Amino acid sequence: MGVVGGINSPEMAEKIIAEGKADYVILGRQMIADPEFVNKAASGRESEIRRCVRCFNCFPGSPEEGYTDIPYDGVTLSKKVGVCAINPETDTEVMFSEFGKPEKSRKVLIIGGGPAGMQAAITACNRGHKVTLVDEHTALGGVLNFTDIDVDKDDLRAFKNLLAAEVQKRNIEVIYGKKANGDLIKQQRPEALILAIGATPSMPPIKGLNTAAQALEIFNQKEIKEKRIIMIGGGLVGCEAGLHLAKSGHKVTIIEMLEKVAKDSFGMYREALVQEMEKYEISTLTGHHCMEITSNSVRCADELGNEKTLAADRIFYALGMKSNKTDELKSAAGNIPVFEIGDCIHPGKVDAALKTAYLAAMNII
Ligand code: SF4
Repeated sequence: MGVVGGINSPEMAEKIIAEGKADYVILGRQMIADPEFVNKAASGRESEIRRCVRCFNCFPGSPEEGYTDIPYDGVTLSKKVGVCAINPETDTEVMFSEFGKPEKSRKVLIIGGGPAGMQAAITACNRGHKVTLVDEHTALGGVLNFTDIDVDKDDLRAFKNLLAAEVQKRNIEVIYGKKANGDLIKQQRPEALILAIGATPSMPPIKGLNTAAQALEIFNQKEIKEKRIIMIGGGLVGCEAGLHLAKSGHKVTIIEMLEKVAKDSFGMYREALVQEMEKYEISTLTGHHCMEITSNSVRCADELGNEKTLAADRIFYALGMKSNKTDELKSAAGNIPVFEIGDCIHPGKVDAALKTAYLAAMNII
């Protein structure tokens, strides 16, 4: 008897068989995330496996199965099936035959050590370029470092750590704790520049918003003592951060302007997320926009103007991100090739970050 479903590590496969739960395991999505899984496991290179993060990017579900929230028509959906968020080489829109071999090894400067910057460094180094990666923090990982705290993000944390390890094991110079500017680019004299400088939380003009904290702050604090939490913004970030708090004993209410929460997520992933939010008794108030925040309340209204004031001990917001500006860095680069990748093009998810990173690195020839 074989077993299939969410098996993403040799240890998990080994345990299932050793405990007699199955005679063999079947790998589905994991083989899209890393087709070398078996070879790496067999040759003692388990730490190099890109473990499926179970994000459902490769198969969000289909309308026939009842997933009517998928924002693609049938043709677009068919192109997305099998495209892995963490394996850019599965992307059907990438024409691998179009990438020629680099004419020579180039000096490549990459600014930003989040997932996009790390993937670009790995791919550029694999192509024989001499890579320097600069990050303003003391560790690689960028926005994914919240996974070090989030109890539900083991798989994404493992992926972030894998990227960092893959950078470190290569001949890539990493400069930590340095905020890149035009002077650094001039000093480094690169032959190609990749900008992976990410995005910053948006702060729309809501009265009192500056008294609330941005959702990712939750993962920078050791303990949040306040019990009743309001999260303003029920997109994926607000929902996942709210769920993290609910799992640590907080009473969470999410206020969302749209008619449903986590609309930027969809299909099977959204269904699982919403079920988990219900299990942890998160209250959601959809179709309401926030008008005013005080230290212990949020005033909001529905589209007809009917107002409500909700009490809270602590207020967070997740109201989207805006791309960081690249103009100064681009102009300092002069006339060398410059590539923007990841969230500084458009705030998005890991799949877009990795795809743009991979394409940039492949296009340095
Ligand atoms: S897209 Fe997500 S779920 Fe699908 S194989 Fe890749 S990591 Fe796994």
